[in-house]
Amino acid sequence: MKCICGKSAIHYRDWEKKFYCGPCLSRHVERTFKHTIRKSELIKNSKKIAVAVSGGKDSNTTLYLMSKIKAVELIAISIDEGIAGYIKQTLQSAKKLCNRLNIEHNIISFKKEFGFSMDSIDKNYCSYCGVLRRHLLNKTAHKFGADKIAVGHNMDDEAQSILLNFIRGDMNRFQRLGVSPHVISNKKFVPRIKPLRNIREKEIVLYAMLNRIPFAHASCPYSAHNQRRSIMNFIDKIESEYPDAVIQIVRFYDNLRPMLNKSASKVKINFCQCGEPCSGKKCMACRMIEDIRNER
Ligand code: SF4
Ligand code: ZN
Repeated sequence: MKCICGKSAIHYRDWEKKFYCGPCLSRHVERTFKHTIRKSELIKNSKKIAVAVSGGKDSNTTLYLMSKIKAVELIAISIDEGIAGYIKQTLQSAKKLCNRLNIEHNIISFKKEFGFSMDSIDKNYCSYCGVLRRHLLNKTAHKFGADKIAVGHNMDDEAQSILLNFIRGDMNRFQRLGVSPHVISNKKFVPRIKPLRNIREKEIVLYAMLNRIPFAHASCPYSAHNQRRSIMNFIDKIESEYPDAVIQIVRFYDNLRPMLNKSASKVKINFCQCGEPCSGKKCMACRMIEDIRNER
């Protein structure tokens, strides 16, 4: 099969019924990345961006693409949640890429910060891990003077989050999706940006391989039990009949965005005992840490 440029194709976009060769696909990925940044003004007025690097394909690709933007300083932050086998591999590939790109790499561990690792607790892993990881990312990015945190969410992740919050009936979180979720506006809160959010997961894998970006292939042993996994399987099933399902879910959300912005309630900011901004008296991370410590 041939790409429109005449070269041999390596990828078929079934949602637009077109074939792509490696160089055309790479160009397309880079164009979408830049367009997302420009259109949503993701790095406008930014001087220093912290990239959350787990060592997987998405975050390593985010770091690689961000490193091509010369106008901002980058630092990489990896969180070591303490998950045997998995973390070692992922951190190695994050380190390898940071060394290659000459970007400062900071590894922050649950064990050191909280006194426990994910492997040592008996909890609903992903909900605890997600909150605690976001907490450390914000704290570390703020400490290093970053004004944004770039995360590796791709379009498939976004479609899953949209459906997940829809199914949970969680309007609050539903309102906080999008390419630069506006959660709270406070100088201690470092806003997150998702520059890969308009790129399909399979194209990120291909891009990473075509551009020799190292990434870990391991998946977290706890991911098999999370709700996101069921949504992923559900979307896969729909996609076999409707190949553009993921794109339509995300577009539908983007069309809703102006209405969601109007109805979003302003969150009053307090500061938790740990110093992090939160909406209640105590931040969710501190409540979870207390919960875990009390049960030990
Ligand atoms: Fe944490 Fe769950 Fe992700 Fe594993 S799959 S790293 S437990 S959020
Ligand atoms: Zn706190």
